[in-house]
Amino acid sequence: MRQPHTSIVILGGGPGGYEAALVAAQLGAQVTIVDSDGLGGACVLTDCVPSKTLVATSETMGLLHASADLGIRIPDGGPADGAGAWVDAPRLYGRVKALAQAQSADVAARLAAEGVKVIRGRGRLVRRAGDHGVVVGDQEIAADVVLVATGGMPRVLPGAVPDGERILNWRQLYDLDELPPELIVVGSGVTGAEFASAYQALGTQVTLISSRERVLPQEDPDAAVVVEDVFRRRGMTVLGRSRAASARREGNGVLVTLTDGRAVRGTHCLLTVGVVPASGGIGLAEAGVALDDRGFVEVDKVSRTSVPGVYAAGDCTGVQMLASVAAMQGRIAMWHALGEAVQPLRLDHVAATIFTEPEIATVGVDEARIESGEVRAEVVKLALSTNARAKMQGFRDGFVKLFASPRSGRILGGVVVAPRASELILGVSIAVEQLLTVDQVAHTFSVYPSLSGSLTEAARKLMTPDRSEAPFDEPA
Ligand SMILES: Cc1cc2nc3c(=O)[nH]c(=O)nc-3n(C[C@H](O)[C@H](O)[C@H](O)COP(=O)(O)OP(=O)(O)OC[C@H]3O[C@@H](n4cnc5c(N)ncnc54)[C@H](O)[C@@H]3O)c2cc1C
Repeated sequence: MRQPHTSIVILGGGPGGYEAALVAAQLGAQVTIVDSDGLGGACVLTDCVPSKTLVATSETMGLLHASADLGIRIPDGGPADGAGAWVDAPRLYGRVKALAQAQSADVAARLAAEGVKVIRGRGRLVRRAGDHGVVVGDQEIAADVVLVATGGMPRVLPGAVPDGERILNWRQLYDLDELPPELIVVGSGVTGAEFASAYQALGTQVTLISSRERVLPQEDPDAAVVVEDVFRRRGMTVLGRSRAASARREGNGVLVTLTDGRAVRGTHCLLTVGVVPASGGIGLAEAGVALDDRGFVEVDKVSRTSVPGVYAAGDCTGVQMLASVAAMQGRIAMWHALGEAVQPLRLDHVAATIFTEPEIATVGVDEARIESGEVRAEVVKLALSTNARAKMQGFRDGFVKLFASPRSGRILGGVVVAPRASELILGVSIAVEQLLTVDQVAHTFSVYPSLSGSLTEAARKLMTPDRSEAPFDEPA
């Protein structure tokens, strides 16, 4: 049942907070967002939006490099192989920051249009009898419901503290006045791989330090192998099984020392070693909100914390750290708090992309769960090197992989490694969400020639004539 006069205070104006605010306002609640650093949050101002804007420029540089093979010549500059192209760093970084500010202004306008009140400042939870309270400066706001969506911050290694000039976290990159000539990227997870890929394409000499055997250790192994192969082929130095112990300034550059004593030198060092929750000093423990041993707010699948009426969403909960997940957690919290019918968060259906070149997009179950026997599924992998459109466009790195239930034929997940895989994955997402079978996808028209043609072809390869009709049988 709707409760139109419910007062809701949201701590944090990132996607976990502002998407929740929009839903709650639509349902008639009185909504206040308290935000310390700008609407849109780190997502819009420092993390997701700026990095993808940088990637847009690096993609274009990649196209320039590949253009000579496609028969393009520049009249008096010789082959348009990208050799003569260079990046105007102040202009690039200026564009990144302006676009982030514009996106933040769009969020502010949407919230204002829905009647959401915004207070600039750092808020903290306080105990009150009967309801909840949030304190901002000298102001105390009473609330029936509080949503904590305070996000996270770059993790700092004790021996490698960013100085904002040579030793950097990803939020400091856009204040440089040049492209780093030699960049050492510490950490080969999603963030490290994305920046390593982007800067390599922009013309930086990149060294990527990976503590594991291969880059992107949490991702589909076949996809990680393709991306690491591309990295190395394009001249990146990838140091596997290498752990950084420290990073310090040395003259005009940086010296990174590995735990085995090796030294790696460059002009700049970018640290991408994870995110810690912004959950300290905001009254959570005092209010009885349970945190895990790393400080993430514990939530259930409808975003409830251990305290009735206090919900949490986004990176501060440590649940899959994606803007789309943060936004869904926030919306679910509001639907639940305001008595709407709500479906619990389904991480099995989250579509995600790693914006390397080529991109890696995934949805649904992963192959690790299939190999461990947790999920029974058939797997088909088609290399894009045989796809006609890929040949025309001049690339050969990548593949399409589909996972389907052997009994029902239901599509359980997939992986796409390709330029713009982030767009191609939607077909697989729809199949997973709508419980489509390989037969249904195989009977769907795709365009000829197209990369998505490989998706329907993979589905055709998974068709079997004598499949039983048992639609919900994917667990082993
Ligand atoms: C480099 C990078 C690239 C990424 N790219 C992608 C991507 O391509 N796609 C994707 O889906 N995800 C991406 N992510 C992840 C995504 O940015 C996060 O999952 C998302 O920002 C989480 O949203 P949030 O609302 O939890 O927190 P945030 O976006 O961090 O927002 C939290 C807000 O709360 C404010 N705040 C903190 N404490 C307080 C307080 N006490 N009072 C008031 N306000 C407070 C903060 O200042 C901030 O404005 C990326 C992350 C990184 C690091």
